[in-house]
Amino acid sequence: MSWLENIRPKIRALVTRDVPENLWVKCAACDQMIFHRELDANLKVCPHCGHHMRISARERLAALFDDGAFQEIEPPKAIVDPLKFRDRKRYSDRLRDAQAAAGARDSGGDAAIVCHGTMGGMKVVIAAFKFSFMGGSMGVAVGEAFVAAARLAVLQQAPLIAIPASGGARMQEGILSLMQMPRTVVAVQEVREARLPFISLMTDPTTGGVSASFAMLGDIAIAEPGATIGFAGKRVIEDTIREKLPEGFQSAEYLHEHGMVDMVVPRQEMRETLIRTLRHLIRPNPPADVVPLKPAGQSATAPKALAGPAAADAAAPDAKLDAKPAAKPAAKPIGEPAGAAAGKPAGPDKSGDPAAD
Ligand SMILES: [Zn+2]
Repeated sequence: MSWLENIRPKIRALVTRDVPENLWVKCAACDQMIFHRELDANLKVCPHCGHHMRISARERLAALFDDGAFQEIEPPKAIVDPLKFRDRKRYSDRLRDAQAAAGARDSGGDAAIVCHGTMGGMKVVIAAFKFSFMGGSMGVAVGEAFVAAARLAVLQQAPLIAIPASGGARMQEGILSLMQMPRTVVAVQEVREARLPFISLMTDPTTGGVSASFAMLGDIAIAEPGATIGFAGKRVIEDTIREKLPEGFQSAEYLHEHGMVDMVVPRQEMRETLIRTLRHLIRPNPPADVVPLKPAGQSATAPKALAGPAAADAAAPDAKLDAKPAAKPAAKPIGEPAGAAAGKPAGPDKSGDPAAD
């Protein structure tokens, strides 16, 4: 027995004794100790530095839905371990262990939760990933769950929100896991064809085959602060292209600066932001009376003026013929010479028209 094997259990005993029942959590960003209740009340955001720690899918869902209430649906049963895959451990054993760790509530479940409820009184369907379940990886079962979520959204005529937290495709299912990428993209398309909004709320991490499929297809792409969002890992890219990548590469903020993400929203503001966004997208009842547009003939000169000075030049002969003072105010604000407002012909001054002087 080497000295290392000898002291390892002692070190472990030392470490576990130091943190009694995990009452205190150390922030990975600022090293401050935070009392666990304070952290839970703050939705797992460090009160000292604002660092967003990972939060479980159910805690997140409870924080998003009205009164924290939502109904889960059971996605269709998917084929289990189709390749009879085995690495250091059988894949079927890995699955069983992950289900056991997730608790009785999740027996038979996989890495995605499909649920529906209301947000701000609006019906919403959410597909949320559990990163704790095999890294939130997307295999056949998760693909089935996502498709079920999309179909439920269409059935309920409700918007779909996806909350990925995933390392990507599930390697143990080989090509079948990769096939979930086009499947989920088609599911998003079904939602789109039903003219329903699809919002992607990217959390830490959104990587691999998940970021390369539905996660990047949101009508609105929202990300949590500091979330890692990308396809391949930073080190893999650096080794491949043999270049140093910029600071903050693949962070939510970097993607926002480069136009890949619409908003970076702190977790405490997420619910309100989603409700406001959905109101804009759905607008069940416009807040004001609908004013009918004017008949097309009344503002006939407006489109010409809109096209700019060159178009106004070309239009001048016509405009002189049927110049009506009543039509002028409509054309005046955009690109029309000031003289036209005084009932003079619409031709620009530079045309040498004596009437313009
Ligand atoms: Zn902190």
